Amino acid sequence: MATNTSDISIGTDYEVVIGLEVHSQLLTKSKMFCSCSTDYANAAPNTHVCPVCMGMPGVLPVINQQAVTYTIMTALALNCSIPEYSKFDRKNYPYPDLMKGYQISQYDIPLSRNGYLMIEHNGQTRKIGITRVHLEEDTARLLHHGGYSLIDINRSGTPLMEIVSEPDMRSPEEARFYMQKLREILVYLGVSSGRMEEGSLRCDANISVRPRGQQKLGVKTEIKNMNSFRSVERALEYEAQRQIAMLRAGEPIHQETRGWVETRGITVPQRSKEQAHDYRYFPEPDLPPLIISREWVEELRISLPELPDARRTRYMTEFGLSAQDANVMTEDKALGDYFEQVMTISYAGERKARAKLSANWLLSEVVRLLKANDTTVEDSPLSPAALANLLDLLDKERITGKQAKEVLDEAYASGEMPDVIVTKKGIKPPISDQSALESIIEDVIAKNAKVANDYRSGKTNALQWLVGQVMKQTRGQAKADIVQKILKSKLDETPSA
Ligand SMILES: [Zn+2]
Repeated sequence: MATNTSDISIGTDYEVVIGLEVHSQLLTKSKMFCSCSTDYANAAPNTHVCPVCMGMPGVLPVINQQAVTYTIMTALALNCSIPEYSKFDRKNYPYPDLMKGYQISQYDIPLSRNGYLMIEHNGQTRKIGITRVHLEEDTARLLHHGGYSLIDINRSGTPLMEIVSEPDMRSPEEARFYMQKLREILVYLGVSSGRMEEGSLRCDANISVRPRGQQKLGVKTEIKNMNSFRSVERALEYEAQRQIAMLRAGEPIHQETRGWVETRGITVPQRSKEQAHDYRYFPEPDLPPLIISREWVEELRISLPELPDARRTRYMTEFGLSAQDANVMTEDKALGDYFEQVMTISYAGERKARAKLSANWLLSEVVRLLKANDTTVEDSPLSPAALANLLDLLDKERITGKQAKEVLDEAYASGEMPDVIVTKKGIKPPISDQSALESIIEDVIAKNAKVANDYRSGKTNALQWLVGQVMKQTRGQAKADIVQKILKSKLDETPSA
């Protein structure tokens, strides 16, 4: 039975406590400890492998410096401190997708600690603590069939960064906001594809509930298998409800790992605490410790790219955009990049007015075309120069807004520049001659006396209909807002017939 928990409120007598463990594959060219390519997404199974990532005995791993760099960059963006010394450890557990019987990870001296991430929720800014960001390797992948399983080792040894938060989130929605913000930062840094649906970004959640006001944390469960922001929020909503119901019924909550079943909208037990692994961590003897010079950390700190919060603020101050527009173009980095390319194309008028017009056309009409064609802004056939050209035509009042939409459709489909399309199609400039327009309007009023009276007697819809008639007469060459203004004043100044 499918259960929709999203509309159930958690109530006020219990408090929900959530911490997240996020794993992100890093966008390095090669794997964590060997030179195999990480570009295996479309490769046949077991083609990106070598003795190191297959876990053969006697091989020696070599640390991928780019993976260390990416992890430190992420840690700095998350306000963490970076120790001068770090090391790798063996995390021992037997599982078929881990051929060598251990995963190389980091235990007591991770690459970073003690950071934070700010999120905005319900108009409030909240600081979520980051416990640590560390580096490890991904496992192989098991493919389960009816009565047997197959293994694909291509994923084995892919650099995997783990970002552990403090239990600072107080609602499933807040957990989703945290995930979204974190994903934004990883994408801006260029260290992660951020694709949850492909499993390159994964999330496990620890969740407990406690009576409001109680200091001591409740017994927590760990939720796995959530592969979208929506499922993170839904799984946590469900689990919070389940735990609260158990406490209300006087039943104990067991510390266990539970899996989220997307199709049924529930979490199910996977592993109890008694079955939990003792990982018997010890320092990886085949790898040297990492000595991280302060100069290098400062170099990385200085070279960090602009992060989402900074872009959001800049879009509002430099371009005068609304918070909402700035948000949309920050969340979708490619959309913001496109907008900035439009803005680099020279323009004589006022910059903020241009920015507003660019954002309006980009976020409504261009996005509409992209959606209709099931494509992304990165693959848009409409160049930023073409959009800027269209905005120029609008600015010069060479075309009306209505005509601009048609020209945009054509430019999107053909790849031609809007001004070329306007010339080719013989689109005439809008009627700007006030007296010519007025005589057409007077004519329309005279021919539609009944509708004009309807308007005068309070039927506001009648005005829109008359505007439509004038637009028809002028074959779309008049500007609708001007038509409406003249029409309204003419109707108001002449008494009903
Ligand atoms: Zn390999």
